[in-house]
Amino acid sequence: MNMMTETITIKEQVMPDTEDNLLFTPGPLSTSTTVKQAMMHDVGSRDGAFVETVREIRKEILRLAHVSQDAGYECILMQGSGTFGVESVLSSAIGPEHHVVIVANGAYGERMVRMAEVHGIRHSVLRTNEDEWPTVPALEKFVANAHGATHLVAVHSETTTGILNPIEAYGAVANKAGLVLIVDAMSSFGAVPLHVAKAHVDFLISSSNKCIEGVPGFSLIIARHDQLQRCKGRARTLSLDLYAQWKGLEDNGQFRFTPPTHALLAFRQALCELEEEGGPTARYARYACNQRRLTEGMCAMGFVPYLPTYRQGPIITSFLYPETAKFDFNRFYAALDSRGITIYPGKLSKADCFRIGSIGHLGTAEIDRLLDAVREVRCEMGL
Ligand SMILES: *Cc1c(COP(=O)(O)O)cnc(C)c1O
Repeated sequence: MNMMTETITIKEQVMPDTEDNLLFTPGPLSTSTTVKQAMMHDVGSRDGAFVETVREIRKEILRLAHVSQDAGYECILMQGSGTFGVESVLSSAIGPEHHVVIVANGAYGERMVRMAEVHGIRHSVLRTNEDEWPTVPALEKFVANAHGATHLVAVHSETTTGILNPIEAYGAVANKAGLVLIVDAMSSFGAVPLHVAKAHVDFLISSSNKCIEGVPGFSLIIARHDQLQRCKGRARTLSLDLYAQWKGLEDNGQFRFTPPTHALLAFRQALCELEEEGGPTARYARYACNQRRLTEGMCAMGFVPYLPTYRQGPIITSFLYPETAKFDFNRFYAALDSRGITIYPGKLSKADCFRIGSIGHLGTAEIDRLLDAVREVRCEMGL
């Protein structure tokens, strides 16, 4: 199968029963009608079937990461958006005696730097430009010079630009230097292949509303069992205590505090639909096809992507503002919005960009609808 030229059609009409915009963003995303319908139930948090659903979800997440409890990995679900999951891991796994190296080439790397500051975690930051990543020798040298480094923290798909960072290479460095590896795989897990064990990942964080195509409400954490044990009694907060959350889920299958029941029901349906689609490989192929069609269409209209192709991931694409005074992002955004299309503003520190996501319940037909709308708006603005 040539995933680059294959045309992807979403069988079900996207949201035939609503007037919702199509969301070309990094989340929340457009979801299938069936995922939304799965939420139409009020269930109690101690309900037997619901507790079983939570167990199934945790097991399935480990399977997607090519690991299992028997192989020494655990899955923890944490209420809140993705950031809550990242903060739970950083504030539960890293103690006062530790020193964390943070690799940052975008806003999500910087967000973890902020967390380290807030929690008083000793840290050193290896920063590169937003369209680059550090080479292995540069990372090795930095780690060697970060006195007493114990942990390495990095982002897989840095959603700021859409760059796909080489986590496997970072994993080899962490393994060689004996560092615990924590990966923010928020916008890649479920679509971009990453073998958690082979890549030496100790903690991986993602969320319900990115590549799995559920609705927002919780984050998911995959943790190596032995590393999780070391988090006991170490958390700096009560609600984001990763170890206590895991213990609660293991002991009686329940969340310690009110679970996002509707989001979990939607997520179970989203996992079924991921499987029906053909699993993460098929989902990757659809996103890559979306991203390629989007980029070709935008380039044909004269828009220029920020990243070189070989660093561009399939999740989200940053486009430079056209170099003309006629372009005004807010007008561009509003004109697309009025045509049922939602795009995303840029988040780059040095270049003016807007972003268009290629994830969610979207295929070729939806990308073409977006391109048609951009074509109209381009004329309207006289670009
Ligand atoms: C979406 C995302 C997050 C979490 O953002 P929330 O708004 O808290 O869900 C973190 N890291 C990356 C790379 C992301 O794409």
